[in-house]
Amino acid sequence: MCVFCDIIEKKIPSEIVDENDDIFVIKDINPKAPSHFLIIPKKHIESIKNLEGVENLLLTKIIITAKTVAKKHNLYGYKLIFNVGKEGGQIINHLHLHLLGGWTSRPKKIDI
Ligand code: 5GP
Ligand code: ZN
Repeated sequence: MCVFCDIIEKKIPSEIVDENDDIFVIKDINPKAPSHFLIIPKKHIESIKNLEGVENLLLTKIIITAKTVAKKHNLYGYKLIFNVGKEGGQIINHLHLHLLGGWTSRPKKIDI
């Protein structure tokens, strides 16, 4: 159906970070931050514009997954971005949430 559907079906290789019944998480092939993940619902929904009310739970799951991935990768602060539609910078027409972070890390404890 689209490049992300092929990635989810593992027809196209990707760096898989997490997977459950509804959601697939991969590393972005062209990272715009030190850590750049894509949280992708397995169901092919074109964009936020095409989300139906019944899919509110899926949206919540996408955000909770982003939080979990951020925590697992020690991202202390991060950006969550949905590009919506061509004019919104969306290139792949399969709903996905960008998780960007990793610009800073917590100071290490120094032994003197
Ligand atoms: P969009 O602009 O549609 O919101 O973002 C699509 C993102 O998917 C881009 O950041 C791009 O680098 C990433 N991307 C495009 N093709 C592939 C691919 O084949 N594999 C992976 N891992 N990321 C991809
Ligand atoms: Zn798709």
